[in-house]
Amino acid sequence: MTALILHGGAGARRGVDYDAEIAHMRQVVEAMKTRLDAGASALDTAVEAVVLLEDSGLYVAGRGASPNLAGAYELDASLMDGSTRKAGSVAALQGFRNPVLAARAVMEKTPHVMLAGEGAALFAHDQGLEAIGDEAAWFTHAGQGDDNHPPGTLGHGTVGCCVLDAAGRLAAATSTAGVFGKMPGRVGDTPLIASGTWADDRVAASGTGQGEYFIRVAATAQTAWRVAAGQSVAEAARAVIDQIGQMGGDGGLIALDRDGNIADPFNSQGMKRAWLTPDGEIMVDVFGPGAA
Ligand code: ASP
Repeated sequence: MTALILHGGAGARRGVDYDAEIAHMRQVVEAMKTRLDAGASALDTAVEAVVLLEDSGLYVAGRGASPNLAGAYELDASLMDGSTRKAGSVAALQGFRNPVLAARAVMEKTPHVMLAGEGAALFAHDQGLEAIGDEAAWFTHAGQGDDNHPPGTLGHGTVGCCVLDAAGRLAAATSTAGVFGKMPGRVGDTPLIASGTWADDRVAASGTGQGEYFIRVAATAQTAWRVAAGQSVAEAARAVIDQIGQMGGDGGLIALDRDGNIADPFNSQGMKRAWLTPDGEIMVDVFGPGAA
């Protein structure tokens, strides 16, 4: 049995046309289904999906990143392998095409979990990861916000993916440019294991929304711990989003358990997401109730 869910951010707003994102998310899930059918690991699949999302320029991550208030592109990403509990993360990384690959390299090539700022960039360079030259010209949302997030709003639009592979392993990966209008040096939930990304032997989860709130409830780890305590993954993820809402925050979570149950609650207007059920069905949704 395999299953997967990905998101393209919980900043979706009614009235905006998401046809390109919907088509793209479906393509990514189709490609990852082929990979899983061929025996790819949950970790490889989650990373490959996030690379495709980063590269598309359609979401506020990777090529679609938006700048901070100083005009710099500081990107965050993390991943976690549920079967080993290994994790990797980069924060405020500048100058590289795929932050999720830098996060993976931190996990696999260093004794650390997280590298930030200049140290993260030096490491990514040493690892031979693909750099981007003239930053502002390379990004698709260069300084303008996008339809979804006009300049001056604190919108958001992270990407993430949770995967269950045929061997029963779970993994999650998440990547973002953070919230629009962020201060230089601001780091949100996305690179923080337990807040923006989590995977263990029961649950994989990835968050999207106003990261300050996700940090304060340890959103993705809390989801997993609720499942460990007996809640369904849908009940657990919903309870976490409700807590965030009660605190005044908004966003959404995608989560997947080891039986292939999928959860995708959000309290924002919409959350771009697509998923593969254990039956092999592929679904895409932005504003509807979704998988659970
Ligand atoms: N959670 C991300 C952050 O706060 C933003 C997002 O999900 O779009 O950096």
